[in-house]
Amino acid sequence: MNAEIIAVGTELLLGDILNTNAQFLSRELSGLGIDVYYQQVVGDNPARMKQVIGEAISRSDLVILSGGLGPTDDDLTKETVTDYFGLPLYFDESVMEEMTAYLKGRKLSVSNRKQAYIPEGAIVIHNNYGTAPGIIIEKDEKIVVMLPGPPRELEPLFCEQVRPYLRAKSDFVMKSKVLRLFGIGESTLGEEVRDLMESANPTLAPYAKDNEVTLRITAKAESEEEADHLICDMKEKVTARVGAHIYGEDEEELYAVVCRMLKERGMTIAAAESCTAGLFSATIANWPGASEILHEGVVTYANRAKEKYLGVSSQTLQSVGAVSPETAQEMAEGIRKASGADIGVGITGIAGPGGGTPEKPVGLVYIGVAHEGRTEVLERNLHGTRKKVREASVMNALFAVRKILEKRS
Ligand code: AMP
Ligand code: MG
Repeated sequence: MNAEIIAVGTELLLGDILNTNAQFLSRELSGLGIDVYYQQVVGDNPARMKQVIGEAISRSDLVILSGGLGPTDDDLTKETVTDYFGLPLYFDESVMEEMTAYLKGRKLSVSNRKQAYIPEGAIVIHNNYGTAPGIIIEKDEKIVVMLPGPPRELEPLFCEQVRPYLRAKSDFVMKSKVLRLFGIGESTLGEEVRDLMESANPTLAPYAKDNEVTLRITAKAESEEEADHLICDMKEKVTARVGAHIYGEDEEELYAVVCRMLKERGMTIAAAESCTAGLFSATIANWPGASEILHEGVVTYANRAKEKYLGVSSQTLQSVGAVSPETAQEMAEGIRKASGADIGVGITGIAGPGGGTPEKPVGLVYIGVAHEGRTEVLERNLHGTRKKVREASVMNALFAVRKILEKRS
């Protein structure tokens, strides 16, 4: 089955909003093993909509439309599609009742009634997230799915109703797993797994995000077990090459992996931060249950604070400076001792844009991780804006902690 996505709305053409629905739908369809051949955007204009919709239906098996299902006169998606197929509309009492229930006593406008008209023979996608129901029309070997534009309606409606519907149409299963990697660039990763990326089933696709890369393995098979088996095989091959960079799978972010590992080991953490000024602790605190693992965090920006709260020696600060491996080590050990936590993290660096020197350029960061009798210190040369340097510092510190925890499983 091949598919086409049409986003309807003049606001998209004006650049007022980003077409996130197209991205969402494309990603979902590829996860279902449905090839998306075209994406289009059209304004709320009857003649151009008619043209675009006609073209899409004639060349694609599945057409998914987003937007234009609202109560106002410029919302014309349903009318245009219905017209194309020559289907009559009927007034659906159950949709009207649902809309009334959704509005909970707020007054139904006359134009809301327009939304309760459904094409004859269509499947209604009941909407608990808004007033406009989605609609599926199957006709002449074609499927047209219409969904309301607001992403907070479109996304759950797709996941809860359209995805199962499309899945049932297919006689194979698609499964995918995302491997999350840190400390390796997209191009290096691409080189490491180039031959594996040529595999047709399962497929392997890299995707670069801020500070990390992911690899999505997607398998198509006749049963779940077979798909799992294909995925598992590919995962083993990837791990053999870049396993040192893989920190997690699917939705679990690096900080969550670290927090979970700390909890599983019954361990606690504390952080002393200079250039990140609390960002490390704040990131840990995003984890529900952080109180079980996070002891304390101190922001020690000035040298005096590093001495006062962490016991960093003034000699170290004077001889090698605040941004040095020695200071990072003493910060990590200082906070570990002061807090009594199992792991102490110290982060010191030059976030920029000013303050760099030839010896210590902007982006130079030292990270100390103190744990049972040892302290590891990393040096990193990070790039980008102040914000990026600070965020990347946190990610590097988390990855370093994860490495230590891994050895203590
Ligand atoms: P509509 O269903 O056309 O009434 O769209 C209602 C609202 O949904 C718009 O005002 C946007 O805020 C949002 N929206 C519509 N289309 C998209 C799209 N393609 N991507 C993201 N948001 C959208
Ligand atoms: Mg609209």
